[in-house]
Amino acid sequence: CAETVDAVIIGAGGAGLSAAVTMHDLGHKVVVLEKMTMVGGNTTRAEGGINAAETEQQKKAGIPDTIEQFYQDTMKGGHNINNPDLVRTLTTHAKDSVAWLDSLGADLSVVGRAGGAKYPRAHRPHDGSAIGPVVVKTLYNAAKERKIDIRTRSKAVDILTGKDGAVAGVKVESKDGKTYTIDAKTVVLAAGGFGANQELLVKYQPKLKGYATTNHPGATGDGILLAEKVGAALVDMEQIQAHPTAAPSGELISESVRGDGAILVNAEGKRFTNELLTRDVVSNAELQQPGKFAWVIWDDATRQKAKLMDGYIKLGLTVTGKNLDELAKAMNVPADALKATFATYAKDQKAGKDSQFGRPDMPQPLTSAPYWAVKVQPAVHHTMGGVKINTKAEVIGTNGKPIPGFFAAGEVTGGVHGGNRLGGNAQADIVTFGRIAGQSADAFIKAAK
Ligand code: ADP
Repeated sequence: CAETVDAVIIGAGGAGLSAAVTMHDLGHKVVVLEKMTMVGGNTTRAEGGINAAETEQQKKAGIPDTIEQFYQDTMKGGHNINNPDLVRTLTTHAKDSVAWLDSLGADLSVVGRAGGAKYPRAHRPHDGSAIGPVVVKTLYNAAKERKIDIRTRSKAVDILTGKDGAVAGVKVESKDGKTYTIDAKTVVLAAGGFGANQELLVKYQPKLKGYATTNHPGATGDGILLAEKVGAALVDMEQIQAHPTAAPSGELISESVRGDGAILVNAEGKRFTNELLTRDVVSNAELQQPGKFAWVIWDDATRQKAKLMDGYIKLGLTVTGKNLDELAKAMNVPADALKATFATYAKDQKAGKDSQFGRPDMPQPLTSAPYWAVKVQPAVHHTMGGVKINTKAEVIGTNGKPIPGFFAAGEVTGGVHGGNRLGGNAQADIVTFGRIAGQSADAFIKAAK
């Protein structure tokens, strides 16, 4: 006879763990299934920050950001094909998500800038480290403290439904290859995207054939396929984002490195874009350059501001030079061109106006040696499409109605980010909609009583 729980949560990334902690705190018994050996999913790989407007942190720093501006930036960044209701929900509640993470012990006191944002609103860990591991650690510790049942190497292979079409449980394949069933009043799908599934990527976007990926190997879109089988509608599946700065190994160089001051140059040693434009625009610009790659370059003053860069140096992703001549040699670009690029940039930075590409924010003159550079190219980064949800994180069926008892949050869903996700909005999405999914599942269970 099968065990019975209030909710089975599929996936232990940021969205699933947020839903699990929320439901537990509302008095429910939950089981979290994670197919990999570790929790964290793609969330662990997030390097920038968590976007939110009108937070205490912003107020303290005197940043005049508003929820309305956050909404406008997100819609514009998403080419205005985002679901406006979902974006309203995201942008209104993101500040509560930041406060909630802080209440669970994250210290997100640094506010930085990410691409496509009018004001700094990417909330980052106080020590300048990457956001993803901090979000996962904070939520995982909260789950452990609450003794929440998290089962790794446990893969959801089927979602079960009752006679009225409501979800009724999940079939699980455990580490020994055996399958078993968990009966559940609700199912929260938080299984992430499909950025590591070449077959599915190419099915929806043929031009991505052969692209590298920045995603963890578990991002295979299982959740989308499971939901489709029980009648869920899918939206925006062809909207797939390439990140412009992936090292050849697939390692991501965070957008915040450019936000903190780094620039991009091509194989001729020349800049070719405002580095702070959205990911799709910068990726396309890179693909127009000789060899279809670029270098992201920073100096010592920039390095001292952000820990991330030391991480890339340690990982061996960089070439370096004690001056620009040495750097040019290491990059195999013409030294004269590179020096001219940096001279122009320093002059423009001093004048407060990027004469070439209109970059709105030039935090560093980039005149302090030594220098480091990483060769980068676009790689598949985020799948914007997925399961259709409404603002309550209810999964919508192909008949346009919510599937009773079925909720979804995070990268497995579509509609929040439209045609392009802004840096810092994934973390905002997973925590905000993860919590909403938990709250809605709670309301569903209470209403059914
Ligand atoms: P999000 O950012 O939306 O939380 P993540 O990629 O961080 O997404 O997390 C999703 C998690 O779901 C990953 O850890 C992934 O391994 C897990 N997952 C994917 N498919 C399944 C499945 N069929 N059963 C259990 N876990 C799954």
